[in-house]
Amino acid sequence: VAKEQGGTYHYFTKILMEKNIERSNLLNALYQAIERNELDLHYQPKVDYRTKKISGVEALLRWNHSKWGNIPPDKFIPIAEETGVILKIGEWALKRAAAQQREWQDKGYQLNMAVNFSTRQIQDPRLVATIEQILDETGMDPTYLEIELTEHTLIQSQHIEKLHELKRLGLRLSLDDFGTGYSSLSYIKDFPIDAIKIDRSFVDNMAHEPHTAALNSTIIHLAKKLDYDVIAEGVETKDQIDYLFKEGCYLMQGYYFSKALPACHVTKLLKLGISS
Ligand code: C2E
Ligand code: CA
Ligand code: CA
Ligand code: CA
Repeated sequence: VAKEQGGTYHYFTKILMEKNIERSNLLNALYQAIERNELDLHYQPKVDYRTKKISGVEALLRWNHSKWGNIPPDKFIPIAEETGVILKIGEWALKRAAAQQREWQDKGYQLNMAVNFSTRQIQDPRLVATIEQILDETGMDPTYLEIELTEHTLIQSQHIEKLHELKRLGLRLSLDDFGTGYSSLSYIKDFPIDAIKIDRSFVDNMAHEPHTAALNSTIIHLAKKLDYDVIAEGVETKDQIDYLFKEGCYLMQGYYFSKALPACHVTKLLKLGISS
């Protein structure tokens, strides 16, 4: 049974305890996950509610271990970050996502491809070269690539120049989980980002809490004033959609439309359209 080791005990939430996985075993397995073909990406549609069309997808990591089954990213990514193996995994994910975007592009679907990046990746001195190489290998048009960063990364990485370098590659930067950190939009405007994603917790509580609803509309209006795209994540109900739409937030993502799906299922959705 997992014992407290350093500061990582809290990542050992129920699921790992239940499966009785030791931290060191998990780490070893994580190092081998790529070679063993256990990692996969699922893609969650982002919908433009004005046209009701899928405008892009977010790539989300899935790890299916031969013995332990599915281990959610919330459980293994913190450990991957801490140990640095996230660099290898992140590179694998970007390569896979870029190749997939290119495949859809070739089928006539022009989709934005959003990929999550952790702080460690932004701090990696080889990051820009790695991305350039992947864009080169896959032939993906960088204007369709979006990197999702958290406020935490943005501020902690203190590498504003690095963000400008990324922007010079022609890609987009978006701020994930907006509202959960400590920064304000007025601070964030110093960073070269293109979009903000309103965190799921705000969307979730909107219907019951007038204050949350007020915060939401303030975020939407300010974001627009500052010329950012704004997208709401974790949209699950029609009420939420109606509210967001009324406030001028047209881009949405959440279980109401679709969960993250294997690429072939997304291809079907692209053909059939989403039901809304
Ligand atoms: P995130 O980037 O905030 O991703 C959104 C999470 O919310 C995803 O969980 C998604 O499946 C889930 N979600 C989407 N719509 C809804 C909804 O309507 N309701 C609810 N309750 N949940 C919804 P997932 O796939 O388990 O990913 C969890 C986190 O793991 C991500 O949060 C992200 O921080 C991290 N992650 C996933 N893939 C990667 C990756 O390739 N690299 C890095 N660095 N982190 C990743
Ligand atoms: Ca994200
Ligand atoms: Ca998020
Ligand atoms: Ca999150």
